[in-house]
Amino acid sequence: MPLTRESIAQALAPVLPSGSLERASVCESFVGLRVALDPTTPVPHLDRIAAQALGAIRVSAGPERVDALVVEFVDRMGGVFHTARPTEPIEPSPAPGHQPLSGIGVKPSARAPTAQEQAAPLAGVRHTIAVGAGKGGVGKSTIALNLAVGLARRGHAVGLMDGDIYGPSVPTLLGLGSLEPRVLRGMLQPFYVHGIKAMTIGKLVDAEKPLIWRGPMAHGAFKQLVEQTEWGDLDYLVIDLPPGTGDVPLTMAQLLRLTGAVIVCTPQKVAQDDAVRAARMFQQLGIDVLGVVENMSYFVADDLDPPREYDIFGRGGAQTMAQRLAVPFLGSVPLTVGLRKSSDAGDPTANFSKGTPLVRALDGLVTALEGQVALAAMKRARPTLSIS
Ligand code: ADP
Repeated sequence: MPLTRESIAQALAPVLPSGSLERASVCESFVGLRVALDPTTPVPHLDRIAAQALGAIRVSAGPERVDALVVEFVDRMGGVFHTARPTEPIEPSPAPGHQPLSGIGVKPSARAPTAQEQAAPLAGVRHTIAVGAGKGGVGKSTIALNLAVGLARRGHAVGLMDGDIYGPSVPTLLGLGSLEPRVLRGMLQPFYVHGIKAMTIGKLVDAEKPLIWRGPMAHGAFKQLVEQTEWGDLDYLVIDLPPGTGDVPLTMAQLLRLTGAVIVCTPQKVAQDDAVRAARMFQQLGIDVLGVVENMSYFVADDLDPPREYDIFGRGGAQTMAQRLAVPFLGSVPLTVGLRKSSDAGDPTANFSKGTPLVRALDGLVTALEGQVALAAMKRARPTLSIS
C-alpha cells in the first residue's frame, strides 16, 4: 500500500488509542506523527508505542521504504512532552499480557509549562543554526529550507524559523497556502509540513503589506518568534535570517546560544564582498561560521541527456572566498529550473528526487553541515587546561 496519511492512520488503528493520532505527515520515506496521550505516561512506554507504530507502518508500507519515524507525544493542550525516534520496530500486535495501549486517554488536567520551559523556550533544541547572506536574492531562504528538509530526511527532528522578518518567503517556499497558525496556551504552534516544523512571521502579518520595522520593532518581532513558538524537542533549529548585517543578527546573538552560522553566497565578486561582511559580523558577534554555501554555482540544463552544465556566474568564487576567510566550504548548489519550480510550488520534497545533480548537491551540503555541527559540539565540549 503506498504511504499516505490515510494508510498510516489505518495501520496505526490497532496500535494507538482511538482518537489519539492528531497528525500524520509523510515526506517520501520519512514519517512524522503527532499523538495526544497522557503526559504522565512513562517514557519507556512511549518509546515502546513509537516502536510499535514503526512496526505497523513498515508492515503496511510493504516494499516501500520507511527510513525514519519521528513521533511527537503531545498533551491535551498540544505541548510536546516527549519525542521518540524509534529505530527498532516492534511487532504491531501487543505482546501477551501487555495492556498499556488501551485506556491511555489524555487527562483533562493538562501539563502546565515548567518554569524552565518558560524561561528558556529553546531548551529542547540541541543545535541552532543561523543561515545568513550578505545580500538578498542569493537563495538564502531556499538553502535554509532545503538544509532543514534534508536534515529531517535523515531522521533528525528539525525546525525552520523564518527570521527574515523584512521579506518572509518561507510561506511560499513551504506551500503554507491558507494554513493558519494556531495558538495554544499563549504559544504559537509551528506548522508541521514536509517533515519539519516551521514558523514564519509571514503568517502573522498581512502578506501584501510592506513590513517596515524600525530597530526595536525588528528586535521585538524576532524575539517573539523565538520565544513564543512552541518548538518542543528538536535536533536542529534552522533560522533564516534577513540579508545583510542589521538588527536581527544582533538580537539573535543576545538571545540564543547558537551552534553557528551558514553563509549563502553566489559566485560573483559583488556577492562575495557582501558575504565577507556577513562573515565578519558573525565573528564579531562571537558566532562560529560553520561554512559557506555557493548557490547558483552553475546552471544545469537538465532537459538535455546527459544534463549539461553552464558556468554562468564564475563557479568557485564563493569557495575561494571561504578559503580566504579560513572558514569551511559546505558545497555548491546548481541553478536549476526544477529548484525554481519546486520553490514556487512550495514543494521542497521534489528537490530530493533520486539521481539528479540537485539532490547530489543538497545531500553533500547536509553531510558537510552535519560534520561541521559535530565538530562544533566537540569544540564546545573539549576541556580547557589552565595553568596558573
Ligand atoms: P533570498 O532568501 O536570498 O532572498 P530566496 O531563497 O527567497 O532568496 O530565493 C529567491 C528565488 O530564487 C526563490 O524563489 C527560488 O525560486 C530561486 N532560487 C534560489 N536558488 C535557486 C537555485 N539554485 N536554482 C533555481 N532557483 C533558485
